[in-house]
Amino acid sequence: MDIAFDNSFHDAMEGFYAPAEAAVPAAPALLVFNHSLAASLGLDVANAGDEQLARVFSGQEPPGGANPIALAYAGHQFGHFSSQLGDGRALLLGEVVAPDGKRFDIQLKGSGPTPFSRNGDGKAAIGPVLREFLVSEAMAAMGVPTTRALAAVATGDRVQRERAHPGAVLTRIASSHIRVGTFQFFAAHFGADHVVRLSDYTVRRHFPELADAANPHLALLDRVIGLQCDLVAHWLGVGFIHGVMNTDNVAISGETIDYGPCAFMDRFAVDTVFSSIDANGRYAYGRQPQILHWNMARFAEALLPAINAVDPADVERAKALVTAIPDRFREAWFTRMRTKLGLANADDADAELIDGLFDELERLRVDFTSFFRALAMLLRGDAAMMEALLPDPDAMAPWIAGWWAQLERETTGPALRAAAMDAVNPLYIPRNHMVEAALAAAEAGDMAPWTALLDVVRHPYAVRAGCEAFAEPAPEDSGPYRTFCGT
Ligand code: AMP
Ligand code: MG
Repeated sequence: MDIAFDNSFHDAMEGFYAPAEAAVPAAPALLVFNHSLAASLGLDVANAGDEQLARVFSGQEPPGGANPIALAYAGHQFGHFSSQLGDGRALLLGEVVAPDGKRFDIQLKGSGPTPFSRNGDGKAAIGPVLREFLVSEAMAAMGVPTTRALAAVATGDRVQRERAHPGAVLTRIASSHIRVGTFQFFAAHFGADHVVRLSDYTVRRHFPELADAANPHLALLDRVIGLQCDLVAHWLGVGFIHGVMNTDNVAISGETIDYGPCAFMDRFAVDTVFSSIDANGRYAYGRQPQILHWNMARFAEALLPAINAVDPADVERAKALVTAIPDRFREAWFTRMRTKLGLANADDADAELIDGLFDELERLRVDFTSFFRALAMLLRGDAAMMEALLPDPDAMAPWIAGWWAQLERETTGPALRAAAMDAVNPLYIPRNHMVEAALAAAEAGDMAPWTALLDVVRHPYAVRAGCEAFAEPAPEDSGPYRTFCGT
């Protein structure tokens, strides 16, 4: 199978990666292939059967035209700097330009060791591969910027973790794999000229309109901060907890990347942490805005040599951009929350309403996802869903009265507003207990529950008959949920 690769990073950025090859899997078998994504990328897979897709997207049969490379990067992991990370279990097959003109990386994840694998095996187990596939597709369906999943292939090999698991390879599509950690790597090891080269490439590839700015590196910082503020506001709005917001897991494109121990919150608690390795709650739900600020400060530091090379006076401007992040984030957050609450017109009193909501959700441990759907039902004159969520029907009466008061200024009628709310507030998300059950079945060889769950979360908004169970939170007595990186 041929792919019309156009490998700009490979061609322009020699020295920023290492050539690498995929390991040969024992017996590749296709688990799932995303045909609609393939079509939007312009990949010609019409004549490829499942067996060929399995060979190509497991690394057994490299597509014609591929120039596989592993990218170099560094990163702060849980606050500590590692100067040598890089694609240790991933391989960039190449880039394609989609029919709409957008450029994408096609990457294999879990395809064996690379020069950056350190002590790792470069492999991935089926559970984390199918979790990333499912969650990234759910995020895409909810309009959250994200990498996508093109294929998952079982390798037929066993991967040793706490115990042996079936191995798999994920094919990930990203608008690029340039991370904050990529900048940190070249700032730490090489200095200004390499940072300038990387920044210039990044601007050309992602933000060509910034190339004419007085200082494109400063403009890049500004843009990336804006994208990250929007992204994290979006995450909080759907109850998403990334779990490993290390700087190597922050994509410059503003896409969510590296789905490891991520999960969605059920009952609201601002300090929710799912990841078993996040003992101190560094990446808890409510800390994500602070971590975004911290990560952008690291990005600014890495960019400083380039910013300074153009104009030393811009260093102060870069610092000011970083200082302004909390305000900028709050703006993005309020914008998102207004849409969730059906408030089309901004008003100063919204801040109090929004902050007050989270106090109430926390106090009452309300199911976060269902709450916004129940609010829209109130607009339709139906209180049953809200009453079922609350410990007693009046538990949130003062807050709800305040919300009604804010709605007074809206000009559209309640039915239209309820519909607008339902169009941004998902009903079906990958619920933790559903994800776990689906992954356990898949590991045991039964893909049906996972496939059913994928189909549900790909249509997050419209009520579907027969899907009631997918909208339910985990039973209260199911105990704390724990997730694992699976690396
Ligand atoms: P992550 O925390 O998953 O973003 O990964 C952090 C770093 O560890 C990256 O450089 C990965 O490439 C590397 N890594 C994770 N798992 C493996 C593995 N199984 N083999 C080799 N490298 C790995
Ligand atoms: Mg990573």
